[in-house]
Amino acid sequence: MNTVLTTTNISKSFNTGPGAAPVDVLRGISVDIELGEMVTIVGPSGSGKSTLLQCMSGLDEPTSGDVFIAGTDIGALNGDQMAAFRRDNLAFVFQAYNLIPALTAFDNVALAMRMSHGTIDRNAVTSALESVGLGQVADRRPGQLSGGQQQRVAIARALVTSPHLLFADEPTGALDTEAGSRVLRLLRDYASNGKSVVMVTHDLEAAALGDRVLVLRDGTIHGELHAPSVGQILDAVEHARRSS
Ligand code: ADP
Ligand code: MG
Repeated sequence: MNTVLTTTNISKSFNTGPGAAPVDVLRGISVDIELGEMVTIVGPSGSGKSTLLQCMSGLDEPTSGDVFIAGTDIGALNGDQMAAFRRDNLAFVFQAYNLIPALTAFDNVALAMRMSHGTIDRNAVTSALESVGLGQVADRRPGQLSGGQQQRVAIARALVTSPHLLFADEPTGALDTEAGSRVLRLLRDYASNGKSVVMVTHDLEAAALGDRVLVLRDGTIHGELHAPSVGQILDAVEHARRSS
């Protein structure tokens, strides 16, 4: 298999104020993500899932350890190089959507496409919105969309750039069952078609779509499951919760 992302024993501590001891959120995480693989990350709230995703995607920097993406040590890139690297290789679906309020759904997606590809393919923008079931509301701004619709615009915006690596933090958190399954199917197919997806979720059925499931506990990988059933993930998460 081809490894697209490697973390080497990364840790992350936050300083929370003068005199306060730093909080150790990640404590030595080494993981490889392969091409064509969907990896899901589960674990109790506060176990470091979002922080890990942000360090893997270059949105945040580990306190120690390195992150390699397609052979590049991303910690060695300067700000401009990192921005260009991210544009060319990655997309991130945020828990809080992070859409541009003044732009329509169409223009939010189109802008991402222009930033990564240099041009806008209007048909590709339309099909990305249609793929998440939003063809009818392309001309609305985020404030005129429900939370679940905004979440799906954020997913269309990530997919339209065809990144090698797609990161998603709780992408179905705001969605009803039907919209959620649709989005999960898209992410699953995206990985199966030769890209890689790393998704944080607390939905164990969603997690079970992963080729591999990482169970986090207190900033470490407590367990790793290969193509597990929902029941096996539940057991692993319960075990992590009991031993934390
Ligand atoms: P999860 O996504 O698993 O719920 P997070 O990665 O968001 O967990 O957070 C893990 C821990 O790190 C939490 O205790 C959180 O309060 C703490 N944390 C996250 N970001 C910061 C920050 N910027 N400053 C201080 N503490 C933080
Ligand atoms: Mg989180």
